[in-house]
Amino acid sequence: MKTNFEIAVFEGDGIGPEITAPTVAILRQLAAQSDGYDLSFTDAPAGAAHYAQTGESLPAASMEIARRSDAILLSAMGLPSVRYADGTEISPQIDLRKALTLFAGVRPVTVRANQRTPLKIPEGREIDFVLIRESTEGLFYTQGRGEVTKDEARETLLITRDISEKLFKFAFELARTRKETGRGPGKVTCVDKANVFRAFAFFREMFDAEAAKHPDLAADHAYVDATALWMVLKPWEFDVMVTENMFGDILSDLGAGLMGGLGLAPSADIGLEHAVFQPCHGSAPDIAGQGLANPLAMILSAAMMLEWLGIKHDNAAMLADGTKLREAVEAVVSKGEILTRDLGGDAGTAQSAAAVAAALNLS
Ligand code: ATP
Ligand code: MG
Repeated sequence: MKTNFEIAVFEGDGIGPEITAPTVAILRQLAAQSDGYDLSFTDAPAGAAHYAQTGESLPAASMEIARRSDAILLSAMGLPSVRYADGTEISPQIDLRKALTLFAGVRPVTVRANQRTPLKIPEGREIDFVLIRESTEGLFYTQGRGEVTKDEARETLLITRDISEKLFKFAFELARTRKETGRGPGKVTCVDKANVFRAFAFFREMFDAEAAKHPDLAADHAYVDATALWMVLKPWEFDVMVTENMFGDILSDLGAGLMGGLGLAPSADIGLEHAVFQPCHGSAPDIAGQGLANPLAMILSAAMMLEWLGIKHDNAAMLADGTKLREAVEAVVSKGEILTRDLGGDAGTAQSAAAVAAALNLS
């Protein structure tokens, strides 16, 4: 009997359904070929279009599907034309993050041979690091609840022991997995501003305490400003970076920039029990419905999902398929023959996904 894993699928808005369909099709084929695991998929309606129709952006039934699933695959949600009554954007992904306490925002940054990047990368080097952004507190803690008077405005920077300890434990475990799978040297860099803010000195103290528990892994610190500089000058020297919410927000866009844009940037939001996997880009309403969307960031997010499930459940077949799927995408990008328009090619969504399936020998 193969172990079955339930995946909640939020196909979302705009290009969401177009990139979700081929991604789920590839996952189904991988699972069908594997004797190590099975996958079943449940659609969870949510998002801006759903809100426009029903007045609910994240129905309780969809939340329930998310809670009981083994992992959550999400494309993109939100449309510029649809807003909550208070004028803010429809963002059920933020509600999911809060409800499921997904404290670790994981943003891998990879640039392989031949991949377009604004940097000049020395011969023989590739970029492959992971940025972990704390996603529940930090400078986003008072988001929407800051105090504003006529003369001043205040927001709170909150760093808690509870979340920080979980975050750093996760960071070191990820560095160990990367070391064991040959992806990184096994180093974690704490990115902060401990020279100026007491909150970051506190953050760093907890980082050092966790680091002491992992003598087999390296640990160092960097100030956030210097990190921005080093991400541009020598990005290949990073392995795992872990930082506060706002710093992570900014640095992850810099990371996407290094990758030549959002089209190849996957992400995961991970907690102790649950995890959401989604591309970094939005719903791209300007190209929705035309079959032009690049599905690769979504497919890379699905690959991260298989790797995460494989590690969590000690399922070697699923971990191996996640790696295989990521490498198939990287091979298609390096080859450069079949690319969507955002990557400089002229292929459509279906051709791009078919190229990945072909690289996997699925078709
Ligand atoms: P959000 O606020 O949800 O992040 P956004 O308005 O910032 O959304 P996106 O929806 O990511 O931005 O779109 C930004 C630009 O990138 C658009 O021109 C869009 O067409 C393009 N884009 C985003 N995702 C893709 C994709 N998968 N394939 C091709 N183009 C994309
Ligand atoms: Mg955006």
